Amino acid sequence: MMMKLADLIEENVEEIAALDAVNGGKLFTLCKAIDIPGAARTLRYYAGAADKIHGTVLKMSKGLQGYTLREPIGVVGSIIPWNFPTTMFFMKAAPALAAGCTLVVKPAEQTPLSALYYAHLAKLAGIPDGVLNVVNGFGETAGAAISAHMDIDKVTFTGSTEVGRKIMAAAAASNLKPVSLELGGKSPLLIFDDADIDQAADIAFRGMFYNKGEICVASSRVYVQEGIYEKLVKKLVEKAKATVVGDPFDPQVNQGPQTDKKQFEKILSYIEHGKREGATLLTGGKHVGQKGYYIEPTIFTDVNEDMIITKEEIFGPVMSLMKFNMVIEMGFFRTMEEAIKRANNTTYGLASGIITKNLNVANTVSRSIRAGVVWINCYTAFDVDCPYGGYKMSGFGRDFGLDALNQYLQIKSVVTPIHDSPW
Ligand code: ADP
Repeated sequence: MMMKLADLIEENVEEIAALDAVNGGKLFTLCKAIDIPGAARTLRYYAGAADKIHGTVLKMSKGLQGYTLREPIGVVGSIIPWNFPTTMFFMKAAPALAAGCTLVVKPAEQTPLSALYYAHLAKLAGIPDGVLNVVNGFGETAGAAISAHMDIDKVTFTGSTEVGRKIMAAAAASNLKPVSLELGGKSPLLIFDDADIDQAADIAFRGMFYNKGEICVASSRVYVQEGIYEKLVKKLVEKAKATVVGDPFDPQVNQGPQTDKKQFEKILSYIEHGKREGATLLTGGKHVGQKGYYIEPTIFTDVNEDMIITKEEIFGPVMSLMKFNMVIEMGFFRTMEEAIKRANNTTYGLASGIITKNLNVANTVSRSIRAGVVWINCYTAFDVDCPYGGYKMSGFGRDFGLDALNQYLQIKSVVTPIHDSPW
């Protein structure tokens, strides 16, 4: 049935891409090329795993033998955000279904349409009524009801750190259901002197401005080593100025509108805050046109980790660009140490990136950064086989990969004596 659902999604790709574009201001072409085929791949990946979930045989002592069963955890509540309505839906639903669970999915109130379409397709795929349920509603009502519900056995959530706290508190106060939380980020991208400048500029720009900056892993803190700083700044500004902001259905457009008025106003107020804090607005910063929630790709320099724009997740097209230097301490070069220290100077730990040709630098930095993913010479390189989730206040639990199945499974131990036993 999951395979059939994947086929149906592919057959209806145009229509679903249009729903996500209309609802979220997402680029139609990218929904069609990336998000929706990705959903089909996710379904097939976990469908293939469904008959390979098994426990282990235990090596017990004192005349006992045992094994473990990995059982479905039960009814899963899935509360998802609006930035990737399709990806988020199946990132949670596919492993949960493969684990044998039923689900109640609550899409974000800003982007309810594709989720309803998926409920319809699930029915066509033969998934029985009651297995994959979609309940639209607001966070404070429908979302809160899921987190506090006594008959929901698990909540998986992606969204803000603030709401993540509320969900965890509600889960604790009700039936102690386990939760997994994929929360905000303020992810660092470190670019070392030996990087290819064109490649680095492409990666950094895409890492930040993809999906109009409404992406949890956005490379919103870019640290550039001083030797290539000026050149890289120039390239990034050129890219920002060349970005076409407008109608998400127009194939010439690179950046659509922010998802709603609330986000639009929040982003503009962060930009004003940055200016007041003394950061230099290198490019962008303004509303594009007279109508709609369009914002110019915005880059700040002369920022530091104490500024609000560098500390808080803006969730819009705003990059903080910083320089790091070669530090010589007691005769040793401390370049990496400075970069690592500054990269880790955040309450978040969702993602990170490194651009360098030096293998030792890449290896050392990747082991030292406290984040759920380190992308080396790439960024936002997602794959259904690659576990995804946060360290620190970016949450816990992993989506994607075979590890995600564990979110939806319980382990039961079964024990029996082999022969006459003292038990
Ligand atoms: P964002 O800040 O990105 O809009 P939110 O964390 O507010 O993200 O929203 C993500 C999801 O959480 C949405 O589906 C929203 O409806 C839901 N939500 C918001 N508030 C609550 C709440 N108090 N309890 C449960 N879910 C909530």
